[in-house]
Amino acid sequence: DNLTAVSAPSCFDYALRLFQARLGEGDVAVERRWPEDELWVRADPVRLEQVLVNLIGNALQAMAETPSPRLTLEIAAEGDRVRLAVADNGPGIAEDRLSRIFEPFYTTKAAGSGLGLGLSISARIIDDLGGRLEVANGAEGGARFTISLPRDAGTD
Ligand code: ADP
Ligand code: MG
Repeated sequence: DNLTAVSAPSCFDYALRLFQARLGEGDVAVERRWPEDELWVRADPVRLEQVLVNLIGNALQAMAETPSPRLTLEIAAEGDRVRLAVADNGPGIAEDRLSRIFEPFYTTKAAGSGLGLGLSISARIIDDLGGRLEVANGAEGGARFTISLPRDAGTD
């Protein structure tokens, strides 16, 4: 692992740029909720970006039929941890599936459109970084994935 101080907002910005074409269509509202003071985590930036890309890709797919799709990205400090969240207002995840979605090859997508590996790999990456990846359904529907990672003082 290439552990270093990683700017959490920069990671989100990087991931969002990959979805520029899709987001540029303008129907998905993107809400960024984070403080003005930059928050840093101790992580491998490439691997953290990969996880965020997985989570945002899943969220956009889940909202394919949602009338007013909204992607909410959050960063917040919590003591010696930083929490990054990716939430959507899609259909959410049935309670009896919540524990299964992190299993390798678990997918509800049509054959060929999802391998079912994104979340299992993401959970493994976050685990390796000393963090946690968790899922819940939002109070107003939709799925909400939360990454918790060790906080870093940053480079300033
Ligand atoms: P894949 O995207 O290839 O299906 P993942 O491991 O990324 O594999 O996700 C596994 C499953 O978890 C998905 O098929 C879907 O059923 C569920 N899932 C993941 N993210 C969301 C989300 N944001 N909303 C609803 N369901 C989700
Ligand atoms: Mg996926």
